[in-house]
Amino acid sequence: KLHNTILELKGNIRVFCRVRPLLPDDGVGVEVISYPTSLEALGRGIDLLQSGSKHAFTFDKVFSHDASQEDVFVEISQLVQSALDGYKVCIFAYGQTGSGKTYTMMGRPENAEQKGLIPRSLEQIFQASQSLTAQGWKYKMQASMLEIYNETIRDLLSPNRSGPDTLRTENGVAGKQYAIKHDANGNTHVSDLTIVDVCTIKEVSSLLQQAAQSRSVGRTQMNEQSSRSHFVFTLRISGTNESTEQQVQGVLNLIDLAGSERLSKSGATGDRLKETQAINKSLSCLSDVIFALAKKEDHVPFRNSKLTYLLQPCLGGDSKTLMFVNISPDPTSVGESLCSLRFAARVN
Ligand code: ADP
Ligand code: MG
Repeated sequence: KLHNTILELKGNIRVFCRVRPLLPDDGVGVEVISYPTSLEALGRGIDLLQSGSKHAFTFDKVFSHDASQEDVFVEISQLVQSALDGYKVCIFAYGQTGSGKTYTMMGRPENAEQKGLIPRSLEQIFQASQSLTAQGWKYKMQASMLEIYNETIRDLLSPNRSGPDTLRTENGVAGKQYAIKHDANGNTHVSDLTIVDVCTIKEVSSLLQQAAQSRSVGRTQMNEQSSRSHFVFTLRISGTNESTEQQVQGVLNLIDLAGSERLSKSGATGDRLKETQAINKSLSCLSDVIFALAKKEDHVPFRNSKLTYLLQPCLGGDSKTLMFVNISPDPTSVGESLCSLRFAARVN
């Protein structure tokens, strides 16, 4: 029996686990008898039974299949709020394709109950920033949205991007470098990246729509709409208080990671194989970085992937990180679920 005990909240890194509900297509074509598996979420723990072995994990929080989007948001709203107070915040969704990452991050924005944490966070930030004007605070917000596909940055708000065909070129839009630089103040600059001033929730919502349209999607045997790239939404928040002359600079990064599934299951060859290798490499770099930060190691290998280098100032120091590990209850996914739980237990 494997047992992973919770390590006390290490620094500013927390890990939440979320199990999505069973869907009608789950387990289709599987002889139930050959899968004596079960998944049980209880309090902060989750037990996974695979061919007679029980694997127990504990996280900072476990959401079972019946947790609503609101239930989840309640647990992160304080973290979101801290970006207004000048903290750098990263919230990731990790898991295999179909485990509920995009549902957790974006949800179904057109449906009030099923909105995910990106629209909910933005609503909260805009509302809170308005109520703070009474205390003399003035906020300036800037949004950018990019994806990292095969270790290449692509600007999702670039006016030059016309459609899926441009997405497939190796270096993104011709002539754009998207070089990452960090300045002495801990601010990140990505050359040529579109940054948009946003004043209302409506403006950001339409940018999110634009970004969703630009996102590259590949086809694997697992999920036709599977996202093979990391999606990074960044909101920079600069606040100044006219009466007290205080200044704050917060950053909120919301990241829908590429599917973590391993090669054999997605039946990858050619381009898909290359994609999967790039994804695996960057996810293991992310794990290495968070692990090194949690262990307070001297050397943190930020430079080993685009994603970790991009987010470097928002992962170290006094920044705050939350990782969602999304789990599918589909009995055919038990192997992937175990991998995801082990990944999360390592960074927890
Ligand atoms: P991923 O982004 O990890 O590939 P999705 O977020 O697209 O996975 O989820 C896969 C499917 O499961 C979608 O149809 C999504 O609407 C549904 N789903 C995921 N999580 C939930 C949930 N908590 N409640 C209801 N449906 C969900
Ligand atoms: Mg997705």
